[in-house]
Amino acid sequence: MSKSNLLVIGAGGQVGTELVVALRAAYGNSHVVASDIKKPSDERLLDGPFEILDAMDGNAMLDLVKKYNITEIYHLVAMLSATGEKYPALGWELNMVTLLNVLNIAKDHNLEKVYWPSSIAVFGPNTPREQTPQHCTMNPSTVYGISKLAGERWCEYYFNKYGVDVRSIRYPGLISWQAEPGGGTTDYAVEIFYKAIKHNTYTSFLSANTELPMLYMSDAIQGTIQLMQAPKENIKIRSSYNLAGFSFTPEQLAQLIKKHQPDFTINYQPDFRQQIADSWPKSINDIHAQQDWNWKPSYNLEAMVEDMLKNIAIKLNK
Ligand code: NAD
Repeated sequence: MSKSNLLVIGAGGQVGTELVVALRAAYGNSHVVASDIKKPSDERLLDGPFEILDAMDGNAMLDLVKKYNITEIYHLVAMLSATGEKYPALGWELNMVTLLNVLNIAKDHNLEKVYWPSSIAVFGPNTPREQTPQHCTMNPSTVYGISKLAGERWCEYYFNKYGVDVRSIRYPGLISWQAEPGGGTTDYAVEIFYKAIKHNTYTSFLSANTELPMLYMSDAIQGTIQLMQAPKENIKIRSSYNLAGFSFTPEQLAQLIKKHQPDFTINYQPDFRQQIADSWPKSINDIHAQQDWNWKPSYNLEAMVEDMLKNIAIKLNK
């Protein structure tokens, strides 16, 4: 029986929905407490304990930590890049206050581990855009990126100063069919599959040649669990690890969908998200994740496209 008790906050979102299922498979349903500010739309979150929690409320979070003897927190609450540009003050407050609530509880109550994802949004227009290295000029230009970079600094600070075993990944855009994305700049790469299957056409909010780094969700989940289960001494980076899957443009993705649906068409109407995408890397160098904890994704681009089309068709009864 597992001695670890995990609390996942923001569990009802794109990442949490799948991470909770995977963690429960690994640790046992009763050892993984899912929580979110609202009731989950995915019934699977109710296969084990579920609690309503506003992560802005540190006392309520601490009550749950005590109630379930929590040893690890997985913090997935955030206002993502596109929504953050609409509500910058709220985005900053949500992203920072919730992280500091988690770090302070981990410090004061000797939690064993904390997981908190960062993002490729920590990079900015002065960053080398091809094979972006772990350490380089960052200068993010979105409030989301600013909050993630500040979060990374806080994580490293809490590790160095208080010994909090906090681990983190800079996720690229995450592609999934189980839960829908929550307001990011890479959401087009999920929407396109739904529109392809429902209407055989898609209007992209990013231009044809906007290349961005992406990762299939099952690889993101597997990488997250691998990082969290790695021996402590292997974790050399305490800000956040670069992680890569594959990179593509909307046009390249459309061409791959066309191989399965030859009549599929795509149009381009870039909006405010184009500017955000233009400030981000095209591809990521993740050599440290490979060396420190054996990171290796399973899906390539073609396999991801095939899996997305198959599963979304089943989901939509098409
Ligand atoms: P999401 O928006 O899909 O989910 C966030 C969840 O947090 C939602 O279920 C929401 O109800 C919940 N929430 C919001 N405010 C809350 C509060 N005050 N208290 C408790 N819960 C609250 O986000 P996601 O895509 O699952 O992202 C999870 C993490 O991964 C975030 O830190 C995000 O920045 C990071 N990330 C995601 C991506 C991506 O492509 N999805 C890429 C890079 C990094």
